[in-house]
Amino acid sequence: MTDRQKILMVGWDGATFDIIEPLVAAGRLPNVARLMNNGVWGRMESTIPALTPTAWTSMSTGVNPGKHGIFDAMLFSMEKRKISFINASMRKTKPLWSLLSERGKKVGVMNVPVTYPPDEVNGFVIPGMFTPEGADNFMYPRELKDELSGKFGPYSIECKQSGSPAAYLRSILSIDVSFREKIASYLMDKYEWDFFFCVFMSSDRAQHFFWKYLDPSHPEHKKYGDAIATVYEKMDESLGRMIAQAGEDATIVMVSDHGSGPLNKAFFLNYWLQKNGYLFLNQDFSHAFKSTSGIRNRLARVMKRFVGQGKVGSGVTDSHKDDINRFPSLIDWKRTIAFSEGVGGGIFINTQMVGPDSYHETIEKIRSALLEVRDDSGKKIVKAVHWRNEIYSGDYTQLAPDLIVVCEGGYQIIAPNEFLFFKKDFENSLFLSHRWSGRHEHDGIFIVKGPSTARNKEIQGCRIVDVAPTVLHLLDETIPEYMDGIVLEESMNESFLLKHPVRFSSAVHTQESQVASLSEDEDRKISEKLRDLGYLE
Ligand SMILES: [Zn+2]
Repeated sequence: MTDRQKILMVGWDGATFDIIEPLVAAGRLPNVARLMNNGVWGRMESTIPALTPTAWTSMSTGVNPGKHGIFDAMLFSMEKRKISFINASMRKTKPLWSLLSERGKKVGVMNVPVTYPPDEVNGFVIPGMFTPEGADNFMYPRELKDELSGKFGPYSIECKQSGSPAAYLRSILSIDVSFREKIASYLMDKYEWDFFFCVFMSSDRAQHFFWKYLDPSHPEHKKYGDAIATVYEKMDESLGRMIAQAGEDATIVMVSDHGSGPLNKAFFLNYWLQKNGYLFLNQDFSHAFKSTSGIRNRLARVMKRFVGQGKVGSGVTDSHKDDINRFPSLIDWKRTIAFSEGVGGGIFINTQMVGPDSYHETIEKIRSALLEVRDDSGKKIVKAVHWRNEIYSGDYTQLAPDLIVVCEGGYQIIAPNEFLFFKKDFENSLFLSHRWSGRHEHDGIFIVKGPSTARNKEIQGCRIVDVAPTVLHLLDETIPEYMDGIVLEESMNESFLLKHPVRFSSAVHTQESQVASLSEDEDRKISEKLRDLGYLE
């Protein structure tokens, strides 16, 4: 083994051992199987919420969301009563690639969510999800975009979820797997790197969309029941080629940001808050629902366009697809105590109405009432309600929603800012079928294999914040002491640990950055993308 350590880190968004283990047993993921047999693997706890932007940011910074400030896909400002989509300039802690760059290492970062605008590194950054489509010069260095489009055609960040399931599957395979691998392979070859990190979104996209077909009683099980496995197989083939290209001595780290599981129903959290006297809408709007006037009819017509045969349609029209700030404008702030914003089940307390004296009482009241919510069959649907200070620590905890609601299996909180549009349809119910059939679960994956790691070993209890310090240590770098994660020493072999004791360096976590909101146009593009994917309805 040479002294120079090299790490190839491959992310499979939403990958879960629940899918991987049976496929490995069936011999369908030979490259993942080899990594597990010759390395170390374990289920890895995600962040709360187990949401893509929050989780990947904790993975790359080694800190909890209270220190990095990315709690959701959106940030709600109570002061301005405005929502904006998150972007990398809001991340308050340096990511791994910046730390490594400062220490003279060469890095390559590709398709990692929330990396736009890109950090200036000793290497390159191609931003992933939450990059506004069509953004100019969105890569670092700027010339890279033209170089790649000259060679491979326009660089696509994500495939569109349109057309038939078969067409969607084809485009996941061609764009989110093959195209991505082609670019990765070109960059791995062309540039020198000590740390190359590439995320594939294909596993997540396939699981959200195709989970229902896993059920043998689904009428189209025969047709699409193998779709998720097919996507994993193609990803495994790509992984095999990338491992071969990285070379014998490279350490391979495989991770996911969260797991995945079945999703049956959406829970309308804002509707529940309204029914229970916490959320009030402006008079004129609620009138529209009560009266039988023309307004109501017009609204009913509008709603009909979004709701088809009891299912949430994916069709959107210009009238509501753009304005993510419509919901805050409908809230009666003089009466509202609590409301939900974002896509991660967050509840904000209206501090204008709830003073410090009654804050905790309000939190506890909402929490205990939510834990009792049941569906029509009497099944409890809320697994946990976390107060932000119980799960986060750090300077930015106050930017988080006051409460984070986690649903039991099979349920998901629907994008709250749109709940009004479905109101007619769920007048008698807090639930609706969701257009997705797969949701995020708390456990992701961690696999590591290399000259310094143990072999054929399962480890327990690793957390997403442990990845960054572990990667640093594998590269023989010191760990900034602000990191919340630990070096997963049990994943390393004895001779490496003897030669390389864990070393810390003093550092402050706050990254001074120019916090920039995206332009309205960029916000709209991200909103469209999230809607297309199913995050927003
Ligand atoms: Zn994800």
